[in-house]
Amino acid sequence: MIDELDKMLRAITGFDAICMQPNSGAQGEYAGLLAIRNYLRAKGEGHRNVCLIPTSAHGTNPASAAMVDMKVVLVDCDAQGNVDVEDLRNKAIEHKNDLAALMITYPSTHGVFEEEIKEICAIVHECGGQVYMDGANLNAQVCISKPADIGADVSHMNLHKTFCIPHGGGGPGMGPIGVKAHLVPHLANHPVVSVNNDDQTNTAVSAAPWGSASILSISWVYISLMGGTGLRQATEVAILSANYIAHRLNEHFPVLYTGRNGRVAHECIIDIRPLKERTGITEEDVAKRLMDFGFHAPTMSFPVPGTLMIEPTESESKAELDRFIQAMIQIREEIAAVEAGQMTAEQSPLRHAPHTQADLMDANWDRVYSREQAAYPAEWLKEAKVWPTVNRIDNVYGDRNLFCACIPVEDYR
Ligand SMILES: *Cc1c(COP(=O)(O)O)cnc(C)c1O
Repeated sequence: MIDELDKMLRAITGFDAICMQPNSGAQGEYAGLLAIRNYLRAKGEGHRNVCLIPTSAHGTNPASAAMVDMKVVLVDCDAQGNVDVEDLRNKAIEHKNDLAALMITYPSTHGVFEEEIKEICAIVHECGGQVYMDGANLNAQVCISKPADIGADVSHMNLHKTFCIPHGGGGPGMGPIGVKAHLVPHLANHPVVSVNNDDQTNTAVSAAPWGSASILSISWVYISLMGGTGLRQATEVAILSANYIAHRLNEHFPVLYTGRNGRVAHECIIDIRPLKERTGITEEDVAKRLMDFGFHAPTMSFPVPGTLMIEPTESESKAELDRFIQAMIQIREEIAAVEAGQMTAEQSPLRHAPHTQADLMDANWDRVYSREQAAYPAEWLKEAKVWPTVNRIDNVYGDRNLFCACIPVEDYR
């Protein structure tokens, strides 16, 4: 099954080989950069240590570069969210003698297909560097374009994002990397079971030769059942759904970045900052209010603070997308009430969200809005409602103050 999945992933990405060892995208980045470093050393260019990373990158990119001792040089993005090609060219030329790699996400974390992607890869190659493509957004490429054809030397695939392995709750995941032939001799190997190449001095990146091998069967089943036609349709629907949401929401919440034709890729970023300035309502208020409508909030304040990044994927029906859009439009209307001075941000249902059953049962309900608006802002909630169990928590406090909830050892007596 692993061999068959290997073949499927090669067909999808265009790479010559797949290394099935990394357990996550981040570990794939590490494995890919190690292969690049080993390749450069073998060529006698081990001094190359500069890694160019656009400011739109996921935080794991600079972290992985740091783990293989590369020096991160940031590349600017333009007002449309694209990599600033002139800045990239200047920095690649400036570091020509010590350039090791570019890490680039395609389509980008800003939710756009960089039109200059091939040019960007060519510039890096001309300056002696390798191209690491962060493949976390491969769901917008499958059966339409291939990372290897675009110019990537190595790229990871998040099988727990693009290929159906349940995603969330902390894993396990799988982040195999695809590489071009010249990197194959430098891929991670394993001291017990030789994999990828014959050189067992290439160290392993995880404990097991094929990572979390058992869950590879999920991606094997998914790809087998979908087939080429089904996978292509999934990609198209994912892009279509993101554009549908962007188009419908744009007049209520401005979409931050779009391509030349006003389209997005697989996700869109909506900007809450102008509303926040005018009304004091924050992106967190919007995220928490969505819970009252039964929605898990989209990604908040990444990659741009004060925004929400919405990625519907291929798996939601049009009815579900419409429900989400309706919820967002109603939330916008609630913000409008604050804008119009009908209530303050502090008094609004947005700031008090999410609402629990205990809130509603309180005999001393003294809010300026009704209980019905709090808990049943939309008609469909009367039929099916997921009740938030707690009110808003202080996320930052929780992150900064770790405490152990284990029972004391004595209690086991
Ligand atoms: C998810 C993601 C990663 C990291 O992948 P993990 O499997 O969570 O380690 C890296 N880059 C981008 C753009 C991502 O979205």
